Amino acid sequence: MNDLGGHPDNCIFCRILDGKEEATFLYRNSRVSAFLDIHPLFEGHTLVIPNDHYVDISDVSEESLGEVMKVAQEVSNLMRKNLGAEGINIMHATGRPAGQTIYHFHVHVLPRRTGDDVEFQSWWFSRSHKASREELENLAGKLLRK
Ligand code: AMP
Ligand code: ZN
Repeated sequence: MNDLGGHPDNCIFCRILDGKEEATFLYRNSRVSAFLDIHPLFEGHTLVIPNDHYVDISDVSEESLGEVMKVAQEVSNLMRKNLGAEGINIMHATGRPAGQTIYHFHVHVLPRRTGDDVEFQSWWFSRSHKASREELENLAGKLLRK
């Protein structure tokens, strides 16, 4: 938020919230909004965002984060009920290496259907390895270092 408590004008999502850019909203309350992604990876691909401008996972408030996830759950249920979704991926990117392109915190809710042709799991397994307990214990120690 800027000093006046409004939305930054250079943020596309804030502009959408202010009605300066169009979007197709599925949901809106005082804290959180959900609208359809302009470049859907799957039919129904939805973004859920806090109405206040937070950059990423590091600064989003606990209250907004909780509310975003609650609405992501509601949107997921609608996708299953009304769009034929058989599964859901909830994705988020913080930072450019993770794929973040819009620096207003958001989660992607992706409706998944059998045979929808994105082999996320086989890619995951082809890129990962079975870690040893020692490796995991060392990493936990590193992560929790004071
Ligand atoms: P990310 O790469 O995680 O930052 O995701 C940003 C997402 O915002 C992408 O999936 C874009 O397609 C989507 N997006 C960008 N501009 C708009 C817009 N004007 N309306 C709806 N979705 C948008
Ligand atoms: Zn913003």
